[in-house]
Amino acid sequence: MEASDVLDQAHAAALHFLRSVDERRVAPRVDPAALRANLEGEVPEHGEPASEVIERLVRGVEPGLVASVGPRYFGFVTGGALPVALAADWLTSAWDQNAFGYVMSPAASVVEGICAGWLLDLLALPSSASVGFVTGGQMANFVCLCAARDHVLAEAGVDVEQEGLASAGRLTVFVGAQGHATIHSALRMLGIGKRQIVSIDCDEQGRMLPDPLQSALATRPGPAIVCAQAGNVNTGAFDPFEEIVRVAHARQAWVHVDGAFGLWARAATSLRGLTLGAERADSWAVDGHKWLNVPYDSGFAIVARPEAHRKATRISSGAYLVRGDGERDGNDWVPESSRRARAFAVYAALRYLGRTGVEALVTRHVELAQRMAQGLERDAGAIIMNDVALNQVLARFEPPHSAEYAQQDAHTRAVIERVQREGTCWVGPSVYAGRVVMRVSISNWSTRAEDVDLSIAAIARAAVAGSISPSEV
Ligand SMILES: *Cc1c(COP(=O)(O)O)cnc(C)c1O
Repeated sequence: MEASDVLDQAHAAALHFLRSVDERRVAPRVDPAALRANLEGEVPEHGEPASEVIERLVRGVEPGLVASVGPRYFGFVTGGALPVALAADWLTSAWDQNAFGYVMSPAASVVEGICAGWLLDLLALPSSASVGFVTGGQMANFVCLCAARDHVLAEAGVDVEQEGLASAGRLTVFVGAQGHATIHSALRMLGIGKRQIVSIDCDEQGRMLPDPLQSALATRPGPAIVCAQAGNVNTGAFDPFEEIVRVAHARQAWVHVDGAFGLWARAATSLRGLTLGAERADSWAVDGHKWLNVPYDSGFAIVARPEAHRKATRISSGAYLVRGDGERDGNDWVPESSRRARAFAVYAALRYLGRTGVEALVTRHVELAQRMAQGLERDAGAIIMNDVALNQVLARFEPPHSAEYAQQDAHTRAVIERVQREGTCWVGPSVYAGRVVMRVSISNWSTRAEDVDLSIAAIARAAVAGSISPSEV
């Protein structure tokens, strides 16, 4: 078989899927056993023709695909894939470059370097910062916190590269009480134990409070890292960076900002005020596959001290690993060795959108989130639990005549499950301020006002669909 035949076949199947996402149920009604039955079996003894493999793959996975690339998927903070970024991603697979270093792919190296500069410009971060192209927010947090750990310990006279973590017990990490789960998994993987982590109280929107931070910093002397957040995963709120940076830097603490989606607010002049002071942090984690709408997987680990960054992630070169001789070696800035050239898709997205396009994307989503919140309040009797200043909406639903929290929580859960089953849109549950909430995140380039209105109507139907049946609780 010709390569072109199987690629044409895949192309047709991809277009078929993408054209269907607007109409199909957002979450499939999936029977995992049936899904497996279509795909499993013994290891094939003999190879199968390429066209049959692709046909079987497409047919087999189809019932289990979630239309998260479509306009009415509001779960987690997901983002879609801009067609232009997807096209670049297809080419990335076809070119199959190893973005390890300049010698293996001058093109991947140069494009990474260009994107690094563009990202720093759009996010209004120091142009001297270094950027690692990683798989997502988790790895971005990991890389930044690795640089942070080694740097603050080096300042205290501990060389982690030589000594390991044996004498690193004095390090303390201060994390807002609503810090993202991936901060904690990154710290665990970095050998930083729970006793070394101090949780800092937040306000009602989930913003870290600077006064308790200042007191905590004073009571735990020694090397310190402060993890702040741009875009609370529930409320979308921003920590008060100016105060946080001031009190942290007064104590020589490293300030890391987890801005997986929220840091994109800096790309919009009307929203940049929410993030004032974030530019003075020491590192930032940002996602590409969320708000920038490039395909999975894509994230950026940005560090204000390139030397600390490189020291934490570089490979101590084997003789055969030819270095780029002044040109960028992408692997200097990430944990991986051989790696996908994921900057091509970033390049395509940034070129296609431009500065004004990124700004328009972000601000439109904030407007759509406000439209969603108002519509849910007006038509679905929802109680909105957060200040909708970004792209996140938290809604709670109360059954008639029930003042009991447990019953209200069960009702909200039932509404969410009905919405998911009905399939017009997909929203997930969360717990906020001790209460079950519906969590709506608007981050897909293809979401229009009509999609928000259709979703409000679907949620309103689910909210008034009678009392809760026991099966729904
Ligand atoms: C999504 C998210 C992460 C994790 O990012 P991944 O891309 O899933 O690895 C970290 N922090 C915040 C605030 C997030 O929203």
